[in-house]
Amino acid sequence: MKIQYRLTLIYALLMGLLFNFIGYELYVNFEDYTEDEFYQRLGDRALTTAKIYFEPSVNALRRTEELHKSFQRNRLTDEIFEIYNDSMRVIYTSDSSVSPAFDTTIVRQTLLLGGMEHMAQDRQQYGLAYRVGAKKYAVMVSAHDKYGLSKLKKLREYYFIGMGASIVVMLALGWFFARQALAPIGRIVKTVRQINADNIGVRLPVGRYKDEIDELAMAFNDVLQELEIGYKQRRRFVQMASHELRTPLTAMISNLEVKLSRPRSAEVYEQTLRDTLADAYRMTELANGLLRLAQIEAEAANYNIEAETVEELIEKCRVHWTWEDAENISVKIDVSPKTRIKVKEGLLEIALNNLLANACKYGMGKPVTLSVREVGPNVHFDVKDKGIGVPETDLPCIFDPFYRAGNTTGIQGTGLGLALVKQIAVIHGGNVLATRNSDGVGMRFTLVLPAVGT
Ligand code: ADP
Repeated sequence: MKIQYRLTLIYALLMGLLFNFIGYELYVNFEDYTEDEFYQRLGDRALTTAKIYFEPSVNALRRTEELHKSFQRNRLTDEIFEIYNDSMRVIYTSDSSVSPAFDTTIVRQTLLLGGMEHMAQDRQQYGLAYRVGAKKYAVMVSAHDKYGLSKLKKLREYYFIGMGASIVVMLALGWFFARQALAPIGRIVKTVRQINADNIGVRLPVGRYKDEIDELAMAFNDVLQELEIGYKQRRRFVQMASHELRTPLTAMISNLEVKLSRPRSAEVYEQTLRDTLADAYRMTELANGLLRLAQIEAEAANYNIEAETVEELIEKCRVHWTWEDAENISVKIDVSPKTRIKVKEGLLEIALNNLLANACKYGMGKPVTLSVREVGPNVHFDVKDKGIGVPETDLPCIFDPFYRAGNTTGIQGTGLGLALVKQIAVIHGGNVLATRNSDGVGMRFTLVLPAVGT
């Protein structure tokens, strides 16, 4: 069931219950009040009856006549009076056709308790004990509260009609409020439905009030922003990858087609095969680089984590150095022996060796230094060379996949090594920075990794 309908029903139910309760309380109180008021009137009439009947003096006779007149004027509906003596005998009745009109237990209780109220079917009965000298009488009055009961009946009718009407109104109001409250969500759903691969720049509408739904929309927009960046990067990466793979393939095909267009000497065929092989190597190198990038991204969470000292890490790197590399690279370690780095098995060696291999390749055979030092909570691995350096304009893009600086013509490479270094650094909670040496000769690459104590 939609939230809008659920809210409507809950609202209508709660309000209905509240109104029902208030209406019921009002009705019950009014019913009590009507009943009490009628008993009071019966009580007054019982007293007047007693006075009329028991006043014997001549002076009082005038008074009782006046009383009697007003008494007759104010008769209640189906009113019956009876007076019983203490032997339970009727000594006066206003209607002999129904006498005795009162139950003996009621009369006895009146004599015993001094007064009593009783409801018999739709008639109210009132008893008053009246003392004349040593004798005690029960003056009983009963009547039908025609007006009170008809008022209560009307009130009941209004109550039920009101209840029905209020439920309809509550449902309408609840539906209106729920719709108002959920309208922003409806707008969000509508906008989200427009988002797809071709329309990833769409953002959710954020209201003026910065309420919970606006906060949700803002958080969702942040996620969309990240997704858009990632999606665009990926798309560019795929374009670049296909371009990079197509270049050696096209070169290979056109070379072969030209050479096959007419008969050639054995030397030409041999050279063609060598060129083709070189292109095939380059493609393999590219494919391997791409595979490695994809693998590391996909399996980052599955690598074992080990805490290694800097010496242990560098020893693992050394295993892959060629004899020339080892000759060229000097290592300086200025780190407490207790300091360790959390390493995802085998990955940091790849990153560090990529930086060192680049320093050797672009360093024109000049010495390369790897210096390690602690800076705050991090360990910095500085790889410095005195080679061709990266031109200032190329520096911002140097970590992008397939990017190669303008000064590398004639130097073999795929442009994937630094992208891999960056990816590995980020996976380890670190970063990699590229800076030109202060004297303008060569480069310094700094791999920054968080240190862990022992
Ligand atoms: P590759 O070396 O295969 O071209 P990388 O991703 O390792 O790819 O490097 C990207 C680019 O960064 C290189 O093409 C080069 O222009 C530049 N670069 C990397 N390291 C150095 C360095 N030590 N000195 C000068 N340029 C460098």
